Amino acid sequence: TLRSSIDSSPSPPPAGRRLATAAIVGKMDEMERKREERRRRNMDEKARKRAENAAVATRGGIAIDSVEYVKQIFAYRAQHGVQAKPTHYDGAAAGLPTAWDEEHESDASASRIRVVVRKRPLLGAERERLEFDAVTTLPSPSGLARYCTVHEPKRRVDESKEVSHHEFRLDAAFSEADTNGDIGSAIGLRSLVGHVLDGQPATVLCFGQTGSGKTVTMMGLSGHDDGRSGVGLFTMATRELFALLERTCAGIRPDERPVVFVSFFEIYRAGAYDLLNNREALAVRDDGKGRTIVSGLMHAEAPNAPAVDGLVELAARARSTGSTAANAQSSRSHAILQLRVCSAALAARVRIDGSTPGGGKLSLIDLAGSERAADAADEEQQTRLEGAEINKSLLCLKECIRAIDTHKKHTPFRGSKLTHVLREAFSGNAKMVFIANVSSASGATEHSLNTLRYAARVNDFRPPGSRAR
Ligand code: ADP
Ligand code: MG
Repeated sequence: TLRSSIDSSPSPPPAGRRLATAAIVGKMDEMERKREERRRRNMDEKARKRAENAAVATRGGIAIDSVEYVKQIFAYRAQHGVQAKPTHYDGAAAGLPTAWDEEHESDASASRIRVVVRKRPLLGAERERLEFDAVTTLPSPSGLARYCTVHEPKRRVDESKEVSHHEFRLDAAFSEADTNGDIGSAIGLRSLVGHVLDGQPATVLCFGQTGSGKTVTMMGLSGHDDGRSGVGLFTMATRELFALLERTCAGIRPDERPVVFVSFFEIYRAGAYDLLNNREALAVRDDGKGRTIVSGLMHAEAPNAPAVDGLVELAARARSTGSTAANAQSSRSHAILQLRVCSAALAARVRIDGSTPGGGKLSLIDLAGSERAADAADEEQQTRLEGAEINKSLLCLKECIRAIDTHKKHTPFRGSKLTHVLREAFSGNAKMVFIANVSSASGATEHSLNTLRYAARVNDFRPPGSRAR
């Protein structure tokens, strides 16, 4: 059969086609050559930087110039009982005074908003640049760390070095030793999913500068060398949701069970774009019954958790390689994944007329890079407009979240496209987890401080003790 297939192989292409093929091959060679050249240039640049760093005097991998700062950070950690290598905090270590820690430690669902911070580890490239770890999460007597300190390296007027320790108190502070799994269980992902099955809205947001770990938290570390953190909150939430559905629907006929619909879209500038449908532009409008409708949004029915994973993967690819990728890079847009659970009867209608499924809704949001808000002052118009919109949406988001717990009648959700589509996430029966992602790198302290200040504003208006409900 091998012989017969060789015998029946087509005759060589005619001369004209051969010429065309040669031209294509030539072009590919050219592209390959250019790629090689670019790679070599990058390597040269890296080697140059490495040599430059190697020329910097170091002690134990720390630039001599930074030793004084690192000493002060170590002293701070020793004083607060933090081990050099953080582990999952066991609560045995002494912490800062915590007036209201114990009273509502037990149940993650006790308060309707939780604001937590996640510190990501120093990356290889940052070590190579001789940056050091300038963020500490502090243990509390109750086990879960609730404090995060940013160590800001400073120079006094007399040129001596001083570290400013900026302390923030949150509902939880996760260190580089905590995995996505630890975070998922600590923030009460399961109880959030239960809330959604009860027909209510629940939301998880990741906020922080580009490179602080938002996407790793949401999408997981697959494809990264670490591998330890495994799947992200997207997948964990989806699995919890289907597992809970399975348990609650044990005795119900398959065609009468609730149905899960998935949508995934992004907000870029003042527009909404469907990531499950070729980045189709979407209109956002009010339905006159107190709901906001994203019209045209694709609601894909998902029979199980892997089906959702597949859709998310497709969408993530659309997000990074779309035709407008140059200006809609992930750092400049907010990505919103929503899982809706609706009754079998409602689902039948959705299938027929494509209407928005009602019922409980879980929203998982990977926000635009917070540093982009500062682009509002950029010289380039395109960048400035993007920055202005991001700035507006993040300011408005903060006000809307603050409104949840103060039981305000009017939430200023119309102030930005992001908050407008999230409207229900701020309603009286909503639950929300706000994750502030920070880099641990010494070169990022200014951004980390901004992120934590924002988180503290979302968090701090409630007097101690008011969270126990
Ligand atoms: P963002 O989405 O906020 O821009 P990413 O999630 O893409 O940031 O993370 C930026 C970089 O940091 C990536 O290279 C990622 O692998 C790394 N990183 C982030 N979080 C972690 C973590 N918890 N453990 C190990 N590496 C991480
Ligand atoms: Mg990202």
